[in-house]
Amino acid sequence: MLVATDNGHGQETLGKRTPPFPDGSVMKENTFNRAVVGYLISELERNGFDTVNVAPETTDTSLSVRTTRANNAGADIYISVHANAFGDGWNDANGIETLVYRVGDNGQTQLAKLVQAKLIAETGLKDRGVKERTDLAVLRDTKMPAILCECGFMTNIDEAKLLVSDDYRRKVARAICKGVCAYYGKKYIPEVTEVAEKRYNKVEEMPYGQDTIKKMVDSGLLVGDKQGNLNLSEDMVRVFMILDRKNLL
Ligand SMILES: [Zn+2]
Repeated sequence: MLVATDNGHGQETLGKRTPPFPDGSVMKENTFNRAVVGYLISELERNGFDTVNVAPETTDTSLSVRTTRANNAGADIYISVHANAFGDGWNDANGIETLVYRVGDNGQTQLAKLVQAKLIAETGLKDRGVKERTDLAVLRDTKMPAILCECGFMTNIDEAKLLVSDDYRRKVARAICKGVCAYYGKKYIPEVTEVAEKRYNKVEEMPYGQDTIKKMVDSGLLVGDKQGNLNLSEDMVRVFMILDRKNLL
């Protein structure tokens, strides 16, 4: 299965940014869209999907180029990632919605409903539902089921703070991938995060080899940091035990 991913707009697109935050900074919509699409591509590929990024350039990519790339690649589905806006300044409009060309008994609506449900489950934001938009080129000119996710409002300060956070961007990407998996009836494969190896700081915390470590501390061979934390892994303790057995300590 080939999934076309579209990070909406570009860095140069006029407007399409948050109002200034209290510290004066703004976030461009494309910065959010691009980050999410980056994570989405990893999510999809881990889950066995092929991907085609229809707007990899940092300059603005036209809508016709985006849709042509997806059509020529023979993509099976098309996903465009956006953040919403209402008016110019900060206001209360909030939540997530997913747009399709035609709401009905069709693939685009089925895909949109599944992705929308996962976005709401993952983020806890207000569910604005699946909506029909016949005026959007990426939904109209694509030959495969196409959806456009509006993943929160840039003009709502609480949601704008989420949109700038890496954690939220990863959440959105995960949710969209879960929706795609559901659409294809595939079990979602989560990212395996490596658990940091446990470290032992005091002689009495050592899983074994306490006598060896105590001897090394007493003789000044092991000092640790300023607080006296030894910061030893299990493997290090084992190596010291072997050296001790050979009377090398
Ligand atoms: Zn947008």
